[in-house]
Amino acid sequence: MVQFDHIQKTYQSPNGEIRALEDVTFSVAEGDFVSIVGPSGCGKSTLLSIAVGLEDASGGTVLLKGRPAAENLQRIGYMPQRDELFPWRTIWANVTLGLELRGQKDDVHTARVAELLDRYGLAGFREKLPGQLSGGMRQRCALIRTLATDPELLLLDEPFSALDYQTRLQVSDDIHAMIRREGKTAILVTHDISESVSMSDQVVVLSARPGQVRAIHNLEDLRGLTPMERRRHPRFSQYFNSIWKELDHSG
Ligand code: ADP
Ligand code: MG
Repeated sequence: MVQFDHIQKTYQSPNGEIRALEDVTFSVAEGDFVSIVGPSGCGKSTLLSIAVGLEDASGGTVLLKGRPAAENLQRIGYMPQRDELFPWRTIWANVTLGLELRGQKDDVHTARVAELLDRYGLAGFREKLPGQLSGGMRQRCALIRTLATDPELLLLDEPFSALDYQTRLQVSDDIHAMIRREGKTAILVTHDISESVSMSDQVVVLSARPGQVRAIHNLEDLRGLTPMERRRHPRFSQYFNSIWKELDHSG
């Protein structure tokens, strides 16, 4: 469904060129949940920015169902790193923001958002401000805002990094269940190996900058399990250790 094809990215800086990504190629099947794991600064955010056209690649293309992804933005839900709800807008005004910006704040779409809030335990918080909700609830709202436009593909950039450890475990379980239930294809970017193994069907390991594909793991034995179940599965630590070694030897 999604194809990252020989992506190159070089940034120009006052001190010369910064090679951020080097020949990154991988693909994502429809309905799959893929994590991209790599050390900070290896180009993970850059990769998603290229997919949604915020940055131009220096080489290569990102295709969604055979056509340039950046020309199909209505099919993509992008949750940038440090995606914050606006503190002065109510939860309802926040989760319908994407629809508002696209001129789609009609009955059909708002009914869908109301249903999502209801399904994920947030219906009673519509008129509250983000500051009145827990970090985990705010993160669920941010995902609902991304789901509101009913995208086929979700791109999530380190969605849990601002949460404390306990909350992160709970919220990653919730978010995983939401994405599965809504039947979305998802790409999650993270620097956290445990998170990548607990969330996804496939892990793409990137090296330190310039980010290059170091390995791709199919987590066949963990398919269908929740993040909590995966963390307790005997294969979990084996996958963790292989990826750890791949990252360790990349610097
Ligand atoms: P990650 O998300 O993996 O932490 P990024 O994609 O944010 O990494 O950045 C990859 C590299 O590219 C970093 O070294 C960063 O400093 C550099 N970089 C990112 N954006 C720019 C930019 N606009 N101009 C110059 N360098 C940049
Ligand atoms: Mg980043």
